[in-house]
Amino acid sequence: MKILVPVKRVVDANVKVRVKADGSAVELANVKMAMNPFDEIAVEEAIRLKEAGKAEEIIVVSIGPQQAQETLRTALAMGADRAILVKTDEQTEPLGVAKVLKGVVDAEQPGLVILGKQAIDDDSNQTGQMLAALLGWAQGTFASKVVIDGDKAKVTREVDGGLQTVELKMPVIVTADLRLNQPRYASLPNIMKAKKKQLDEKSPADYGADVKPRLKVIKTEEPSGRKAGVKVKSVAELVDKLKNEAGVL
Ligand code: AMP
Repeated sequence: MKILVPVKRVVDANVKVRVKADGSAVELANVKMAMNPFDEIAVEEAIRLKEAGKAEEIIVVSIGPQQAQETLRTALAMGADRAILVKTDEQTEPLGVAKVLKGVVDAEQPGLVILGKQAIDDDSNQTGQMLAALLGWAQGTFASKVVIDGDKAKVTREVDGGLQTVELKMPVIVTADLRLNQPRYASLPNIMKAKKKQLDEKSPADYGADVKPRLKVIKTEEPSGRKAGVKVKSVAELVDKLKNEAGVL
């Protein structure tokens, strides 16, 4: 079985993002970028399944600019076998990405696609679900455990108030939640080896898809700063403030 893992290049999770002066978008110039953290978890899960003998090949794919090849090389250094860059300079959106991924699935015929549950830049949490709908495949979203057994996948899902386990018929779409695993670091020798690996370069049109933005961003703004706290002198004052100022009692 092949496993396909889509990985997105996003602003590094440790960077404090700034909004462009004209409010059109988040500033990306000279900002450190990295693999979407949930996609690292997805790559790790694919590697673990391969190590357990459940898969023969892991293909990673990224839809984005030329620099997204760095993200793909990180995935190769972690242990993926092959990488495809679907090159575009458009700002990608879930539906366009899902359409490209459907084309990749048709061409590569994986038995399992593991995505991140969401990309931390636009927080859409839509691509996996849209891909499942386009393919007509079963989906196990927000996965914290994945067990493959023959033509069935048992996926434990993080739902409100607990865990839900579903049994799905392969092929399946899985989206990775935070507790699925702890991704490994790529070792230096593997990073060096990954630099030399050949990447397949494609365009959205090669997969019969277009990724032109369908959404119009009206405004982007930074969250307002938090108000400073106040010290109260007594429990009575605290209760009074909670009742009469915050209105929570
Ligand atoms: P989203 O629906 O945008 O929150 O993204 C969910 C998941 O879809 C991500 O964690 C990735 O696995 C995948 N994905 C989204 N956009 C891209 C992209 N441009 N290239 C590759 N994978 C993507």
